[in-house]
Amino acid sequence: MKILNLTEGSFPINLSYKLESIDVPKIGSLIGNLEVKLRILRISNNLLKCDGSIKGDFTDICQNCLKETILNIFSEIDVTLKDLNEIHSDSSEQDQTHYQDLEYFNLQKFIEEETGLNYPDIVKCEESCIEENESLKQEKNFPFKKIRDLID
Ligand SMILES: [Zn+2]
Repeated sequence: MKILNLTEGSFPINLSYKLESIDVPKIGSLIGNLEVKLRILRISNNLLKCDGSIKGDFTDICQNCLKETILNIFSEIDVTLKDLNEIHSDSSEQDQTHYQDLEYFNLQKFIEEETGLNYPDIVKCEESCIEENESLKQEKNFPFKKIRDLID
């Protein structure tokens, strides 16, 4: 696990490495490595910027036809980093802000969060799959139907 102290040292920090595994709920499984390229810049004492990219292939299941599908994920990173103690006092409406303890910055946690955010909400084997196969969609809703039956 990579922990960085972002409150001191020299900037920018350039990172380029490969991750063998990643722990993100509700996404497919990583094939091979996740390629990480990041540059961390210091704007001021408690304000940093991170840009770069995350790249990797994942196997997942098409939400419609349940076929195994390979997704090529390429996420451009352009995020502001701020210390956790600013999370409540921060009035700026920036949505691309990642809050973490800047003295013990957990890079893995950051990458996992970014991967989760950039992972597609809808996984399909091909562009047209969802529209074509309406019958299977109903089958997929079956677990919800079951819960409703239990409530009744
Ligand atoms: Zn499909």
